[in-house]
Amino acid sequence: MPRVQKSKLPDNIPASTAAHLLLNTPPDIAEWRKALYEVIGELDMTWEDWQARWPYVSNFWSRQETGRFDAKTLTRKDLYYCRRWRIQAETKGKSVRDKPITKGTRCGMRFKLYEFYEPDCALPTRIKIVPYGDCSEHAETMEQLDKFKRCEALMKLAGTEMQKRYKPSEIKDAIRSNSNPAAHAEFKAAGGQFFTIKDVHNAGAEWKKKNPNTSFIGANLDEERQWLDLAEWLNAGKLSIQLSILGNSI
Ligand SMILES: [Zn+2]
Repeated sequence: MPRVQKSKLPDNIPASTAAHLLLNTPPDIAEWRKALYEVIGELDMTWEDWQARWPYVSNFWSRQETGRFDAKTLTRKDLYYCRRWRIQAETKGKSVRDKPITKGTRCGMRFKLYEFYEPDCALPTRIKIVPYGDCSEHAETMEQLDKFKRCEALMKLAGTEMQKRYKPSEIKDAIRSNSNPAAHAEFKAAGGQFFTIKDVHNAGAEWKKKNPNTSFIGANLDEERQWLDLAEWLNAGKLSIQLSILGNSI
């Protein structure tokens, strides 16, 4: 699998090629996702590896407590809960009038993340993940967690492609890479099984919120049309966002 940095891609590269090249998963990500879902025992890795892997498991876990840096031991520890740690209410369908369906799932999986620093370093060098609490197994499967929420890596990629003004449907197809077995396998290993065009729209809206003043590159679409499509979708859906961009900044 070629590893191409996104900054090196020419602006006019087709979205289908671009997204494939950009889904730059770290080695053995399927195995790591499983290990970081199960958290059966302690997991030790470099800070860089953790930074590379976390975006692929961010849909499993949520940080609940941020520990203070301990200057004596040069460590810091955070507490993470399974994202399904409380009883979840979900809505079905697009209409806000749909009544939420309360599901009885609640998961007690937790871990502590230890960060180990060297003197005078701003970033840790290593981390260790240690199971925490009484629960030793998730109440949901990995597949269910992938279905509830998409991981950060896929969402960031979709957001970046939206920024380049490719069509949402084109981005979805490119990221899913159905016609390219190797790329599709990588996409699935990244937990993308339930990735839809809705995620592309969400990612685009999120990206725009975080980068309100950024100029766009590689535009080969009718910009206003694309953002109108997005606005239309948002208005029909549950998200609310200030789309003042339609009037001025593009
Ligand atoms: Zn769980």
